[in-house]
Amino acid sequence: MKTILAIHTGGTISMSQNEKGEVVPNNENPIAKEQVILKGQINLITDNLFNLPSPHITPQIMLTLKKRIMKAIVQGVDGVVITHGTDTLEETAYFLDLTLPNTIPVVLTGAMRSSNEVGSDGLYNFQNAISIASAHESYGKGVLVAMNDEIHTARFVTKTHTTNVDTFRTPTFGPIGIVTQHKAKYFQELIQTEVCDIDQVVGGVYLLKAYAGMSGDLFSALDNEKTHGIVIEGLGAGNVPPQTLAAIQQLLDHHIPIVLVSRCYNGVAQEIYDYAGGGIQLERMGLILCQGLNGQKARIKLLVALSDDKKGAELRRFVSNAVS
Ligand code: ASP
Repeated sequence: MKTILAIHTGGTISMSQNEKGEVVPNNENPIAKEQVILKGQINLITDNLFNLPSPHITPQIMLTLKKRIMKAIVQGVDGVVITHGTDTLEETAYFLDLTLPNTIPVVLTGAMRSSNEVGSDGLYNFQNAISIASAHESYGKGVLVAMNDEIHTARFVTKTHTTNVDTFRTPTFGPIGIVTQHKAKYFQELIQTEVCDIDQVVGGVYLLKAYAGMSGDLFSALDNEKTHGIVIEGLGAGNVPPQTLAAIQQLLDHHIPIVLVSRCYNGVAQEIYDYAGGGIQLERMGLILCQGLNGQKARIKLLVALSDDKKGAELRRFVSNAVS
């Protein structure tokens, strides 16, 4: 019989709506005792590790989660399910994807409707996640996100809607699998993952979004010893307004790594345009163009790389390549 560890961290999946219609956390997690699926066929262990709305999740908490899962792997569990608020679920999922060995299925899930709302999706998603984590087809797929009958890789999945249950999407490639009748079916393979077994996390890694008419002020404000790295969500294929360039150059002169992704929902940042602030100039200046990750994922990748003490060419190689 397989042993699956369910780690609960909080989020809407463990919340309820009160008489005023407000969604609030519970002292007791309403889904922690529920296991209708595969009852008697798997051994489900429950760990109520945190009870946090996901805007309260930090990289330090992600690291605690990673260490808890490492302990479970050593103890011999066959799969892990993590329930999590959906707001930052993609960041925790990608952090774990970058830091855990790809040896057992690790599946994150959440809910868009709280536990006592009509059409609540929490228990349904939780049950799907349990069946995915216990399926032999789920091995070697990296960290997975299971929501609304779809299975996504942690690397590219993103929350796209504030309230709709069909919120999680993988813009460029689509989900790698689906769940039907609580059974996982896969249609795409995971491309290789490079893992960093970190045991600490650095702070001072920031994310800035470019916009029309942006000046260098926000960049200059980050020009201090507390800043260890910056990700810019650039315009289009990876461009920024020219008024930002002097401040960006100052940061590079102070050896602060700067990663460039696109603020577009789909596509990759590339060196296409050769004008002031265009991707070609940015690459020449020394920015690291990271292909295919969104801003929040690129920030997690930079943070993990810096926490692993990667520097110079090694940092550039690791962060720029979203496909290994
Ligand atoms: N705000 C909630 C959270 O992330 C949303 C959710 O869980 O769906 O905790």
